[in-house]
Amino acid sequence: MKLSEAISLGAMMGPKANGLLFGPKGGSCALGSAMLAVGASEAKWNGWTLFHTQEEWRWAKEVVLSCPLCSRKAPVVQLIPHLNNGYTDCHDQTREWIASWVATVEPQEVLETSPTAHLPVAEVASVL
Ligand SMILES: [Zn+2]
Repeated sequence: MKLSEAISLGAMMGPKANGLLFGPKGGSCALGSAMLAVGASEAKWNGWTLFHTQEEWRWAKEVVLSCPLCSRKAPVVQLIPHLNNGYTDCHDQTREWIASWVATVEPQEVLETSPTAHLPVAEVASVL
């Protein structure tokens, strides 16, 4: 599942949280929503662990972009809470808005989940 799709899906599962992956009343921030969509929960994950294990979202840690609403530059995984949260230097956008923005910057091909999908072709050939 793409990160944008996961944020949209998780956003339907409860209210928005500010500054917390998972809010006290079952809500979630944009990143927390993405985690809920793939079956994570506060009890099982912390936010950074998921991005180590969710291979197809790894780009969000590696790709540095400018915030679409101000000049801040940061990895996408940091821009998402920056867009989500309601603090003074953040933008308090909806998770749906954030998902729409993520959809414009994420890789368009979903990575295969095959264990050899990340290997160069030559290495795959030697494995087979
Ligand atoms: Zn910004």
